[in-house]
Amino acid sequence: MNNKKLIMNKLIAYTKLHSEQVPYGACIVDEDGEIIAYGLGQPKSSPTFHAEIMAINNCASQYPNIDWSKLTIYTTGEPCIMCSSAICWSGIREIVYGTPVSFMTKLWGIEASTTCPDIIKLVPNPPQLSEPICEDQCNEMFTEYDSKYRKVLDDRLKEGRGQSKIIREEERV
Ligand SMILES: [Zn+2]
Repeated sequence: MNNKKLIMNKLIAYTKLHSEQVPYGACIVDEDGEIIAYGLGQPKSSPTFHAEIMAINNCASQYPNIDWSKLTIYTTGEPCIMCSSAICWSGIREIVYGTPVSFMTKLWGIEASTTCPDIIKLVPNPPQLSEPICEDQCNEMFTEYDSKYRKVLDDRLKEGRGQSKIIREEERV
């Protein structure tokens, strides 16, 4: 197993163990391949508390003088445009993710016409974006979460609040 898969496996295990909300997990890895900070998505606490943002903030508070250009961020799902921008601002050199946004689109019907590659190409010296790693495992984790919380999401949809783009089971293609 290569180093990227090993790190992603650690991140998946961490996310499964600790996540109390949607299983977005992120970690920041130094040039020696050591995980130096984790973050978990907590969108119920704040819409901006995405895993990547939490990991960046945890890293910044633990290592105030760190050289961000030597760091890699791993995330269980392809970063959204907010997180992609934050990663660019941080100066992190590489992004490694599990589940691609195309899978989320199928699973949740979240329309993302602008994605991570669109954002990072706008900045000088963009971070490198890897091909998905441990994609099947991350997809499975999100699918499990989806079936568990499908009813909650459907109820929200019926009430017309939040997650407005969620497509209900029978409407999915
Ligand atoms: Zn995000």
